[in-house]
Amino acid sequence: MSKNQNISNRSDSAPSPIGEGWGEALPTPSPSERVGERLSPEERLPLSRRNFIRTAGITAAFGLSGIETVFASMKNKNNKSSGKGLVLRFIPYDLQLRHTFTLANSSRKNTPDVLTCIEFEGITGFGEASMPPYLGESIESATKFLSSLNLSQFKDPFQMDDILRYVDSVMPGNCAAKAAVDIALHDLVGKILGQPWYKIWGFDPADAPNTSFTIGIDTPEVVRQKVAEALPYRILKVKLGQNTDREMIETIRSVTDKPLCVDVNQGWTDKQMALDMIHWLKEKGVVFVEQPMPKTAIDDMAWLTANSPLPTIGDESVQRLPDVLKAKGVYSGINIKLMKCTGMREAHEMLILAKSLGMKVMIGCMNETSCAVSAAAQLSPKADWADLDGNLLISNDPYQGVQVVDGKVTLIDQPGIGIGKLQKLF
Ligand code: MG
Repeated sequence: MSKNQNISNRSDSAPSPIGEGWGEALPTPSPSERVGERLSPEERLPLSRRNFIRTAGITAAFGLSGIETVFASMKNKNNKSSGKGLVLRFIPYDLQLRHTFTLANSSRKNTPDVLTCIEFEGITGFGEASMPPYLGESIESATKFLSSLNLSQFKDPFQMDDILRYVDSVMPGNCAAKAAVDIALHDLVGKILGQPWYKIWGFDPADAPNTSFTIGIDTPEVVRQKVAEALPYRILKVKLGQNTDREMIETIRSVTDKPLCVDVNQGWTDKQMALDMIHWLKEKGVVFVEQPMPKTAIDDMAWLTANSPLPTIGDESVQRLPDVLKAKGVYSGINIKLMKCTGMREAHEMLILAKSLGMKVMIGCMNETSCAVSAAAQLSPKADWADLDGNLLISNDPYQGVQVVDGKVTLIDQPGIGIGKLQKLF
C-alpha cells in the first residue's frame, strides 16, 4: 500500500529523481473541457510506457535497496501538494428507455439516475446511481445522500478502503448512491494508475463470457421485434413471471433457437409449479433460471434448487456481501449488480467469495448508462454469465464505453472503467 500511496500522488509537479516531473506523465485536462474524455492511443500509451520506463529507470538508477528512499522522498513532496482532497459533483439524469420495460410486477418508460464525478488534482473519475423505483431509491434520496458526504477530508484517493467504509457508514441503504461514489473513485484511481480495473485485478479480458440481451414481457409482435434487435447476441434473457410465460417462450422459439435464460423476478409462488416450469423450460433450451420465487421463500427455494434440472440464480435475494453466504444451499449462483452492492469494491469481494463457495456468478446491471455498465464489465472475465445490456436499453446514453462484439462485452484497454463522454455533463 505504501507504494500505491506514493504512486497515487505522483501528479506532484516537482521534478522526480530522474529529472522529469511526475505531473507531466499524466494527462493534464482542464476540468471543464477534457476531464473524462477518452484518451487517444497517442496520449495513453506514452503514459503507460513512460511510467514503466520511469519505474524501471528508478530501479536501475538506485537499485532495489534504494527504491524505498526514492518513494519516501516523493511522498514527502506530494503531501505538500494534495491538500484539497476529493471533490464530488453530481447531477440528476433521467434515463429514457427504448421500449416500455415490463417485469413480473411493474412497468416503466424511464429510470431515474444521478451522474457523479470525483475530481482530484485535475483528474476526474465518473460514476452513476441508477434507481429503478422498486429498489426504493430516488433522485431525491440520492442527492440527499450525496450532499451529506464530505469527501474533501480524504487527501489520497488510493485510500479506497477508508473512503468507501466512510461512505457506507454515513446512512444505511442508499446502495445505488453509494455505488455512484464507488464507481467514480475506481475510475479516478484507475486513471491515475493509467490502467483499467480488469488489469489491476489481474483478469484476462479474453475470459469474458457472452452477454445476454433482455427481452421484457410484451405482446408477441413486440417480442419478435426485440429478438430481431438482439441479432448480435448469442444468448437472450427472457423476463417471465406472468400468466403469459409459455407464450413468451413459444414466441421467441418461433423466431430463434439461441440459448435462453429466464428471469422470473420472484413471479412464481408455488414450488411444484415452478419445478414443472423449469423442466419445461429445459426442454426449450433454457440454461438457467433467475429468482424464480419470492426472496422470502427461502425453504421453498432451497427445495427447488435441490430438485431443479437447471441452475438457479439469486438476484433480489442477494444484495450485499453477507447475502452470498446466506445464498449457499438456496441458489446455485448469484447475480451481482453494482447498484445493489454499493459498487465495484464490494462486487469484487462478492465474486471472490461466491467462487470460493463453488457458486456460479452472473454480473448483471439495471437500466444504466455506459458508465456503470463499463464498471461492471471490469468484473466480467471471472463471471460465468454476463447480463450487461443496460446501456443498450436506453436512448440517451451520455457516455461511450464497452462494446458488444460477437455477443461478448469486449473490454477495452482504457484507464479506469474505460469510458468517454459524448456530451458536456458537469
Ligand atoms: Mg433479475
